Amino acid sequence: MAASCIFCKIIRGEIPSMKLFESEKTLAFLDIQPLSAGHALVIPKHHGAKLSDIPDDQLQEILPVAKKIATAASAENYNVLQNNGRIAHQVVDHVHFHMIPKPNQEEGLG
Ligand code: 5GP
Ligand code: ZN
Repeated sequence: MAASCIFCKIIRGEIPSMKLFESEKTLAFLDIQPLSAGHALVIPKHHGAKLSDIPDDQLQEILPVAKKIATAASAENYNVLQNNGRIAHQVVDHVHFHMIPKPNQEEGLG
């Protein structure tokens, strides 16, 4: 846990979020500025800025949870992506995986 990290604050409940899944090691919640309806973030509870900072055992649930959320959202087309470092467009320095549904154009957004 990092005192000033925004996602650690979400884990501790100090900042509200729309939680989709929570376990001992993993949290998933809706992105506050969604690129499309259902845009979710899946994070390890272990604080680390980059993927290489996170122990393997803290990552085991991440893709299964992203998969569950995509299935629950009936997302037919979607991206799962994860940014490391400013040049790679990382803004929040706590590892997170985006699950971004890509709706058909007539469904709006995205
Ligand atoms: P990055 O560019 O670091 O991969 O993406 C960070 C993501 O975190 C962005 O999509 C942004 O909207 C989301 N985000 C930033 N602050 C908050 C917050 O306080 N709550 C939630 N739910 N999402 C946030
Ligand atoms: Zn953190």
